[in-house]
This record gives sequence, structure tokens and C-alpha cells, in this order.
Amino acid sequence: MPFGLQPTHLIIIAIVALILFGPSRLPEIGRALGKTLKEFQSATKEATQSFTQEVTKPSEPPQAESPTVACKACGKPIQAGMKFCPECGAAQ
Ligand SMILES: [Zn+2]
Repeated sequence: MPFGLQPTHLIIIAIVALILFGPSRLPEIGRALGKTLKEFQSATKEATQSFTQEVTKPSEPPQAESPTVACKACGKPIQAGMKFCPECGAAQ
């Protein structure tokens, strides 16, 4: 078998890689490969998370934090709990 992959071939490939890249470059290549894989995984995770949030997030009313009421005098929307209307100054 002329092109059969044998352990000897792997050793030859490893030696060729060492000659081409040098022993100091091999960890660098390994790190680069690992980093790329990690980035890809985190990107996939982020995409999945944002998609899940989009789907599961309930649509909240926009003024949930400060509910407004209509002024008794002028009818303009003012914050609930205010004693005086900031628009016309009427006591609520
Ligand atoms: Zn008012």
C-alpha cells in the first residue's frame, strides 16, 4: 500500500512539521487553533442565548417603572403619587 497511513508516516509528518514551523511555533499553532475553536463556541452560545431571550422574553409595558396618571385639572400625564401637577400646579 503506497499511500497507507502508518505510524511511521505520522512520525515523518511530525518531523516535517517541526522542520517547517520549528518546535517553538507548534504550541503557538495549537493555541491559535484552540482560540479559534473557543471563539466559535462562544459565538454560537451567544447567538443561541440572544435567540432564546428574544423568544422567551415577555413584552413588558413601557412605563412599568413610573406609572402615570392624568392630572385632575389639565389632564396631562403626570407621575403617580405626585402631590402637584408639574404642568399646571394643581393639587392632586
Ligand atoms: Zn395639571
